[in-house]
Amino acid sequence: MTDKHASRIALVTGASSGIGAATCRRLVAEGYRVVAAARRRDKLDGLRAELGDRLYPLELDVDDAAAVAGLAAALPDAFRPVDTLINNAGHDTGGRRRFDEGSADDWCAIIETNVAGLIRVTRALIDDMLARGHGHIVNLGSIAGLRPYATGTAYVASKYAVHGFSETLRLDYAGRGIRVSEIMPGVVRTSFAEQRLGDADGAAEFYDGFDACLEAEDIADTVAYALKQPRHVEIAQLVVLPAS
Ligand code: NDP
Repeated sequence: MTDKHASRIALVTGASSGIGAATCRRLVAEGYRVVAAARRRDKLDGLRAELGDRLYPLELDVDDAAAVAGLAAALPDAFRPVDTLINNAGHDTGGRRRFDEGSADDWCAIIETNVAGLIRVTRALIDDMLARGHGHIVNLGSIAGLRPYATGTAYVASKYAVHGFSETLRLDYAGRGIRVSEIMPGVVRTSFAEQRLGDADGAAEFYDGFDACLEAEDIADTVAYALKQPRHVEIAQLVVLPAS
């Protein structure tokens, strides 16, 4: 069923690399207009040069509460109202260490982006979706939100929080035309590990230590699958693991 309320305007956070950039490419190919949001302007401009004027680069730090609150109003007319939100921005900077080996500030920075940032962006866009009775929010959780591992305290906590938030948001808006999907990938070969470890060689070694890794495009496919379901179908949760 075609949805007459759909604007087919998506906003992707963490669009400057990895899963976010792959999702932008995929959504533009599927006919969406896409707001690509992240901090690194040069990367976003590269995506704009590659994908053309169906992509709008938006410099945004999801940790910046004021910038996020003004987000909807800052978008040009051709890129609003946003009815599809891909909450993808996230990191584990300084992660893969035992809890006492990192500072409280290190750990809280992970929660700030992965949880508070995701909540802020969702709050900034939800009113428009509710007013139109139409919206789809896709949150990037992780297998870490189901299966804890040692040396992952803050990151695991952040993804458990994304899981709880997604499950509850879905309940809040049942019957209001707003769907909530959570994608929970296993290991994906992106710049995530380099960001986490602060070391390109260590990151390559980390990924090489797995029998198989997912690619960013695999997760973009999964996002597209959740989005393309008819209005009466809500993909609540997808766990996507690499296979060898
Ligand atoms: P990347 O490191 O390649 O991408 C992370 C993105 O998040 C970048 O575009 C970065 O952009 C953005 N980002 C980080 N902090 C902020 C911020 N404060 N404000 C705005 N954007 C921010 O990693 P992935 O693509 O792998 O990760 C994407 C998501 O997928 C994350 O939520 C991650 O937890 C999740 N995930 C990843 C897995 C993996 O194995 N790679 C497995 C399971 C889940 P910039 O620096 O320009 O702001």
